[in-house]
Amino acid sequence: MYNRVYNFSAGPAVLPEEVLKEAQDEMLNYNNTGMSVMEMSHRSKAFETIINEAEADLRKLLNIPDNYKVLFLQGGASQQFAMIPMNIMKNRKADYIITGQWAKKAYQEGQIFGDCKAVASSADKTFTYIPDCSDLDIREDADYVYICENNTIYGTKFHQLPNTKGKILVADQSSCFLSEPVDVTKYGILYAGVQKNVGPAGMVIVIIREDLITEDVLPYTPTMLKYKIHADNKSLYNTPPAYGIYICGKVFKWLLKTGGLEARKKINEEKAAILYDYLDQSKLFVGTVEKASRSLMNVPFIVNPEVVTDKEKKDALEAKFVSEAKKAGFENLKGHRTVGGMRASIYNAMPIDGVKALVKFMAEFEAQNM
Ligand SMILES: *Cc1c(COP(=O)(O)O)cnc(C)c1O
Repeated sequence: MYNRVYNFSAGPAVLPEEVLKEAQDEMLNYNNTGMSVMEMSHRSKAFETIINEAEADLRKLLNIPDNYKVLFLQGGASQQFAMIPMNIMKNRKADYIITGQWAKKAYQEGQIFGDCKAVASSADKTFTYIPDCSDLDIREDADYVYICENNTIYGTKFHQLPNTKGKILVADQSSCFLSEPVDVTKYGILYAGVQKNVGPAGMVIVIIREDLITEDVLPYTPTMLKYKIHADNKSLYNTPPAYGIYICGKVFKWLLKTGGLEARKKINEEKAAILYDYLDQSKLFVGTVEKASRSLMNVPFIVNPEVVTDKEKKDALEAKFVSEAKKAGFENLKGHRTVGGMRASIYNAMPIDGVKALVKFMAEFEAQNM
């Protein structure tokens, strides 16, 4: 039976169908090993090839310079909230830009280890924009400046990186990873939990400049939370998230085969424009983000409160939309539990036809409910 839905989940999220099918074909017998990747030693030749190719393909995609290490680690993106300060907060001072809940969580975790300062925030307008970060009050002795580059919950994206005044830039790219080309040399550390755009949950990819990997970490840093131990052991200090690495590797190959990140950016811009253009002319629905800060990946929208002024009616209409959309095969359009409304996440693997079909459905719903 074949009944896949259009899955607009913010994460874990849609993966390329051909990747899933390939994994299915190889489930019982990977490349004539007679076993599944899940069953094989992480020290085997077969797995060595998988992890080496995954790294090489990722390096090709992002044009990662030789002085950066690529680490495939466990603990998801959230583990990095602690791992970053434990490893690079030498002066016990770091400056954070607060553009949403993920940045705030990282900032709060950082406070366990040292003096963290919020140097900018968009909390005043419920995180619906990216603040001007061209001339912030970055502290002279700050160890790094931290951003969440794409805000999954609020649907904003840094379209210009902050001026860190020479300090190391650390970026959480979980929900925009590999959605467009980036200049890796601008970052000290960039990392991404993979369940948004590249693979199964539980794994994080860390791309880190070599000089930041040292023995000089905060006291009591556990072995498993030292970048150095993982870098020295090529992500094989202990059993890595092997199946996750295998699926990510397939997604990297899919991205390379379909034209790399320049081509992917064009497709993503085209997809996002279909949805934003509809929202901009819709009477019933309205996007919640300032235009200049819009994300290509996460698109939050609501029933326009200026049109449906009664709050109860508005909430009811939104609930009706989400439920009717689900019946029509559009899953996970409910907004984050903390913000309400709707959100369509349109990651790399969401086909353009999915976005077109969603917009058609929204227009029909609008016609019936205005
Ligand atoms: C989902 C998400 C996280 C948390 O990822 P986990 O793997 O669940 O820890 C962190 N940051 C951003 C931007 C996210 O979208």
